[in-house]
Order: sequence, then structure tokens, then C-alpha cells
Amino acid sequence: MKENSSARPRVLVLHTGGTLGMRGKPLKPDAFSTALTEAVPEINELADLEVRIVFNLDSSDIGPTHWTQLAAEIDKSRHDFDGFVVVHGTDTMAYTACALSFALLHLGKPVILTGAQRPLASVRTDARRNLVDAVEVATSGLGVVGICFDGLLLRGVRTTKSNVNDYRAFESPGAEPVARLGVDVVYAPHQPPVSSAYVFRPEFDPRVMALHVAPGFPSELLAELVEESDLKGLVLAAYGLGTVPTAGPDVGAFVERAVGAGLDVLVITQSAGKVDLSRYPNGRALKEAGAIAGGEMTIEAAVTKMMHAVAQFPQARDRQAYLLANVCGELGD
Ligand code: ASP
Repeated sequence: MKENSSARPRVLVLHTGGTLGMRGKPLKPDAFSTALTEAVPEINELADLEVRIVFNLDSSDIGPTHWTQLAAEIDKSRHDFDGFVVVHGTDTMAYTACALSFALLHLGKPVILTGAQRPLASVRTDARRNLVDAVEVATSGLGVVGICFDGLLLRGVRTTKSNVNDYRAFESPGAEPVARLGVDVVYAPHQPPVSSAYVFRPEFDPRVMALHVAPGFPSELLAELVEESDLKGLVLAAYGLGTVPTAGPDVGAFVERAVGAGLDVLVITQSAGKVDLSRYPNGRALKEAGAIAGGEMTIEAAVTKMMHAVAQFPQARDRQAYLLANVCGELGD
């Protein structure tokens, strides 16, 4: 396999769909996306580009099998390019960024997802800037899977979609941007070097469900459903530090039944910050029932990591060790 020895960086642009390349009312994927480099010719000044259409979907239709396909596309081309840009709809971009972070562990090259709030064909589009910025950071040499959007490069595994109306669609609560792209491109100091060996594990098992805890949580009903289902993992978005109702609806009892039925249960918080299941009895109930604390994981990181864990590790002990490990920074610093 050839590594790039010429002065100009080589960047592979993988199109997967999203608003950036859509047209019409309602907005739908359009063949326009095939002409990305003609529509935004300035990106050719930054790198030698190759564009491939991997699929062309509203990102609401992108899921585990697409993540596997996309990861395989990057893996097979990893020696031929210095960086990768993934054009993606914003709705599930953070899930795909997390999935690629787990699937292409320690790839050591930039994998940069971007998209737009307004189509490239629209006058006030943000697509042009986001694309240019994404190609720019894809030439940085950083070993990061990131989301580049509205002048920020965010660590993909810490990022969530937080706004549908503003051009600033993403944030990474508790994780500083990797770079700010203003007049100058300013990278945060101390980017950790990638020293570990590359691990390609592209499989994800979709038998995972996320549950958002709310007052009146139907513990009994859900316990029966879970016991009869083929589900393998649950992500429980709890209150605050990881508390849940334990009187009236008893979420602790629900988790105990789920764990008893062979499911792994990962607890994240609906707030920003880090789960601590020891501070309150209403958190301890989850720990005593066999749940695993998910640190600062976003819901996107927790769901994709659980799907990855279920696909990789048939033994409960190995799965739980993987869920507890800070694989690529998803638990927080
Ligand atoms: N529904 C679109 C998508 O996620 C929204 C977007 O791209 O901004 O594909």
C-alpha cells in the first residue's frame, strides 16, 4: 500500500447524504451531491480530493449497518489518504461520529464529519464554509474523529446535536473544541498523540434501547417487555448524578430484572457532567441492581458503545470491562 509522499495532502470525501446535498420541498437527497467539488471548487486548493458517494440518505435513516459500511470504506482506503471527510446529515451525525470512533480505534488520521443546516443550493447556506473547514482540518494530521461545524472542530465522541435553528448545531459539553476556525485555524494545545496500535472493529449489534427516565416511569410494564424481548443492552438516561425514582415506580427493581434477564445496563445523565452512583440512595439502587456508570457519556456515545460492546464480546465479563473502560475519551477526562 502506498503512503502519500507528495507535498499536497490527499483527502477522501465520503458523501452519505443530509441537508447539505438536498433540494426541494420537502427537502430530499438530490443528485447535486455528486458535484460537490464543482459546487465548492475552493476545496480543491486545500488538498487532492477524491469524492465517493457511499449512500445518499436523510441521516434519520442511517444506522448500525451504514456505520459498518462507512468504517470499512475508510479502513480500505486508510493507506491512500491523509485524511477523510464524511458529509452527513446533522440529525444523526453525532451517532456516526461515535460509531467511527469505536470502529476505527487509533486510526491515527483525521476523520472529519460535516454537513449543513441549509442546503448547498441555498443562498444563505452554511455548507460552503463547513466543507472548506472540514477539508482544512482533514489535512491536519491529527488522529481525531471529529465534527467540524460552524467554525468549531469538536471531538466526535463527546459531541451532541443541540440546536436545529442556529448554524451552531453541535456542542461538546465538558470537552473543549479541538480547534476553532476563525480568521486563523487555532488548534487546542496538547492533542494526545496516537501511540496505540490501530484496531478495526466495525460491527454493531442493534439490539440496544435507550430509555429516558421521567416521573411515572412504567417500571413494571417495561420489565415485562424487556424480559420477553431479545434486547441485549439498555442505556438509561437518569436524572442528575444518576438518580431514578425508587418509590412508586421502582426503576432499581426494573434494572434488577433487566440485568437478571441478561441485559447490560449503562447509566448516563440527562444533565451535563459525570454520573456518580454512590452519592444518593436513588443512585445506589441502580449500582446495587447491577447497572454500570457511564461517566460523562452522551447518549450518542453510550448507545453506540453498547452496540459495539454487544457485537464484539459474547462474554458478559468482557462486555462490562469494555463498557467501563475509557476507550477513546468518551467517559470524559
Ligand atoms: N434531516 C437532515 C439529516 O439529518 C437534517 C440535516 O442534515 O441537517 O439528514
